[in-house]
Amino acid sequence: MRCTKCRSQEACLEVRRHNAAYCEGCFLDFFRDQVVRAIEHEKMFRRDDRVLVAVSGGKDSLALWDVLLDLGYEAAGLYIGLGIPGYSEPSREKCEAFARAHDARLIVVDLAEEYGLGIAETAQRTARAPCSACGLSKRYLFNKVALDHGYRVVATGHNLDDEAATLLGNLLHWQTGYLARQAPVLPEDDGLVKKVKPLYRLAERETAAYAVLRGIDYIVDECPMSRGAKSLLYKDLLNQLEAVSPGTKQSFLFGFLEKARPLFHEREAVELHPCERCGQPTTTPLCAFCRLREEVARPRRPRGRRHRRPASAPPGPPAPRPAERPVIPLIPVET
Ligand code: SF4
Ligand code: ZN
Repeated sequence: MRCTKCRSQEACLEVRRHNAAYCEGCFLDFFRDQVVRAIEHEKMFRRDDRVLVAVSGGKDSLALWDVLLDLGYEAAGLYIGLGIPGYSEPSREKCEAFARAHDARLIVVDLAEEYGLGIAETAQRTARAPCSACGLSKRYLFNKVALDHGYRVVATGHNLDDEAATLLGNLLHWQTGYLARQAPVLPEDDGLVKKVKPLYRLAERETAAYAVLRGIDYIVDECPMSRGAKSLLYKDLLNQLEAVSPGTKQSFLFGFLEKARPLFHEREAVELHPCERCGQPTTTPLCAFCRLREEVARPRRPRGRRHRRPASAPPGPPAPRPAERPVIPLIPVET
């Protein structure tokens, strides 16, 4: 099959929801166009804005950092070490290698070392699920680090699949607060920097293809804490729908953003004020991050014998697992 854009090269990647198939060069153009369209249409940032890209070492965030640098934006990386054995260290190395290769600035914050909040340990010491403690900590640090270093915009690598899966989860549980805040842009507010998702128009397999075609060395293993996460189930379900009806994920997400989100948005206006301890914006006297630190620092009550784990087998995160997704970037086109 010929590339539907240039019509001279063989196509290497099919984008069925656009009824198109691209050769390597035209696919990279398509990818950049979608990012530019997201930035400009949603007024994410201007040419002269400094952007802080939250990077995990995975394909999405490094692809985002790469495309923003390639488009000429002043984009620095922010890596947050989560203290997950066997996963955090190689993730950080991928980010550092990328920064070196692109002569770009990388800011590293270590949750365990600097705040005593390594995710595995925090989950053990509190009643929270690891991903809940992780999400809370990352949201807090994205904002704090951006303000501390003079960045007005934080960009994350959430793609179309991530956003559609999150939307499905929020709808299934009628999480109206989360539905109100689910958008490609969360504007600047009192003490809150702007948050943007420039990859929201691109599917996961497209960011993987971009990363491979651009020679980006990313961590392929999934975070071991994601095992059993509901979001993976929602992604699988949406992929099944997409396979029989291309464009389902996009129309699901874009339809929500256009037609339904404004209804939730108006009802969820909240008032922010500075946290009594750290000064970051919050709706409660102490922000959720300071409460989490307090909870972790609190001495634990000794547990009954029945609940004690054997000393020889300390609880810890499961070992990293190889990615199960079929990230074969150059997917044969259907003929
Ligand atoms: Fe954090 Fe959970 Fe994602 Fe791992 S899977 S990076 S713990 S939110
Ligand atoms: Zn606080």
